[in-house]
Amino acid sequence: MKLIKRIILLGFFFILTACQGKPAEKNNSLSTKQNQVDKDKYRKLTPEEEKVIIFKGTEYPGTGIYNNFKEPGTYRCKRCNTPLFNSKDKFNSGCGWPSFDDAIGNNVKEIPDADGRRTEIVCNNCEAHLGHVFRGEQFTAKNTRHCVNSISLVFEQEKDVKSDTAVFASGCFWGTEYFLQQMKGVIDTKPGYIGGSVDNPTYKEVCTGRTGHAEAVRVIFNPDSVSYEELAKIYFETHDPTQIDGQGPDIGNQYRSEIFYFDENQEKIAKDLIEQLKNKGLDVATKVTKASTFWVAEEYHQDYYIKTGKQPYCHRYTKRF
Ligand SMILES: [Zn+2]
Repeated sequence: MKLIKRIILLGFFFILTACQGKPAEKNNSLSTKQNQVDKDKYRKLTPEEEKVIIFKGTEYPGTGIYNNFKEPGTYRCKRCNTPLFNSKDKFNSGCGWPSFDDAIGNNVKEIPDADGRRTEIVCNNCEAHLGHVFRGEQFTAKNTRHCVNSISLVFEQEKDVKSDTAVFASGCFWGTEYFLQQMKGVIDTKPGYIGGSVDNPTYKEVCTGRTGHAEAVRVIFNPDSVSYEELAKIYFETHDPTQIDGQGPDIGNQYRSEIFYFDENQEKIAKDLIEQLKNKGLDVATKVTKASTFWVAEEYHQDYYIKTGKQPYCHRYTKRF
């Protein structure tokens, strides 16, 4: 029993000190002994965790708890607690696994497969298997995707993270959300209704076109990671801003193109971008309006394309800037 207690105590001690790195190795016998102690300090894994972390398995796509997870914080190694990835580097690649375009320091080690086709990534401290890294896919400016099994990670919530809000309307809010939620630095997206005259409207009421609301998406983002201008550019590049009172096959004022701003800075950026598009010959119909109450839409509209695995029918990316 004493030994078990000691191991548990060592475990707690390790969690507190895991980030401080390995002690210096003076000679072989000390090194062997030290490695033994290190292993005792590792968190005990369940058989399911061992399948991935020790035996280099892969969790089924779309099933991991951090796949569609946007809270701000740090992702640590499940086995040794070393910080590996930061939420500001997380993006939605649509591949079914958490994706990061950067890692923390040198804490993630890359090991090319023997056949040179893929590159495995492991925790640089304890060699826990994490997943693979891919480059050249053009998902983000860093052009890198650390594709990681959720089960290899534990998440630590960050406190006092900076956040800002934006609201964009560009037709069917399923498609508007689809593109904005893939942006790096986006913490949360919610489809909903804004700009109308009725409190707490339902989808049915908004669909009549008589409440004055637009289908829109509220975006909570970390301004240290993505700027309002970057979000607004993606907004303009994923719908047709020249269509009046409709988007694609959806016709009606509830499908209008409109930016709802929260401050002078957002208003200025929106108007500047419209000016740029007009200079490129686009007859932009997008309105720029001060934000009023945003009403979150019914649950079945949230994350529609993630839940259904379908593709947007009237939103697609067109480079405009
Ligand atoms: Zn580790």
